Amino acid sequence: MASSPDVIVIGAGVLGLCTAAELAGRGHAVTVVDPGGPNASSVAAGMLAPALESLLEDLTPEQAGFLKRARDLWPAFAKAHGLTLHREGAEWRGPDAAAAIERLRELGFEARATRTGLLTPDDWRIDPGAALTVLSRTPGLSTVRARVARLAGDARRWRVEAEDGRTWFAPSIVLATGAAPATPGLPPMVAGLVESIQPIRGQLTQVMVEGPGRVVRAPGVYVAPVAGGVVVGATMEPGRRDLDPDPEEARIKVAAGLALLGVEGEAGATRVGVRGAVADGLPLAGASGPPGLFLALAPRRNGWLLGPLVAAIVADGIEGHPAIADAAALDPLRFG
Ligand SMILES: Cc1cc2nc3c(=O)[nH]c(=O)nc-3n(C[C@H](O)[C@H](O)[C@H](O)COP(=O)(O)OP(=O)(O)OC[C@H]3O[C@@H](n4cnc5c(N)ncnc54)[C@H](O)[C@@H]3O)c2cc1C
Repeated sequence: MASSPDVIVIGAGVLGLCTAAELAGRGHAVTVVDPGGPNASSVAAGMLAPALESLLEDLTPEQAGFLKRARDLWPAFAKAHGLTLHREGAEWRGPDAAAAIERLRELGFEARATRTGLLTPDDWRIDPGAALTVLSRTPGLSTVRARVARLAGDARRWRVEAEDGRTWFAPSIVLATGAAPATPGLPPMVAGLVESIQPIRGQLTQVMVEGPGRVVRAPGVYVAPVAGGVVVGATMEPGRRDLDPDPEEARIKVAAGLALLGVEGEAGATRVGVRGAVADGLPLAGASGPPGLFLALAPRRNGWLLGPLVAAIVADGIEGHPAIADAAALDPLRFG
């Protein structure tokens, strides 16, 4: 690790690494501490899907606009950090495509009818594994394999202590620990916020078939391209953080995915991740109250979509810049 980083980011998921890369790009010496291994971000399908998420979650035009503005940060972020965006759009093959097209247009998205449903050019995609690797190699960013066991802070700096006893100091830290329980040593108010994060287990299964080359979604199932095939997902299981794959659930989902594509194929590995969410479904991003303690947590099912937005908000907070308009919706102190 850099001998004295400006910022220590705890957690190397999409929120931690986007924030670390943003800060490093702005010239800060950043260290990311994470024990390594799979996380929700590496398991995810990588959809950047403001349009079909808004349709499926029945969002208001204001909420849909927020997701679209978050997506619009991706091209510049991807360019700055050497990430590849896939912008082939996504298909919806659910019932009543005409009504869905109308709804999408009301929400400010483009959509056109296809033989099987609709296509929107507004939903994009990224390869999560490749993107995490590229972000972790950002110049100015160093990574340490360790699990943080304890934090302690005063007005001047934070002390970050790993399970193996190694200790580091920085004036600012960013907690990006996903759906994990509160790290010991957090001030009680912040620990309470972290403990309010609900885990939502999700699993998806790889299938070696030639897909249509873009995301295809229908009620209760989606199929997304990955190297060598597709992934079929994903479950939303609130309250669960166990990581063992459920083979029966995987079988049902894969059957639905293959039926959606009208092909046959053999299921491969099933992967499980745990998303974190708070009551309004939006992340906790920015200053948490105590000096130098910032949060990048709880993006629910849109962590990839919201990564650059959370990163910009946290980096602005650390640099003391005025917050951008969308920061208020993600203010960790908004629940009062
Ligand atoms: C099956 C599935 C499919 C999904 N598909 C999509 C999708 O298509 N598009 C989309 O936008 N989102 C998707 N999501 C949601 C998205 O994956 C999550 O919102 C996002 O990954 C959460 O990122 P995170 O950085 O908050 O947490 P995580 O990715 O969980 O990262 C948290 C990190 O913190 C580390 N950590 C925890 N405690 C400590 C500690 N004490 N010390 C050090 N490190 C610690 C962990 O090791 C982990 O690496 C999907 C999720 C799942 C489960």
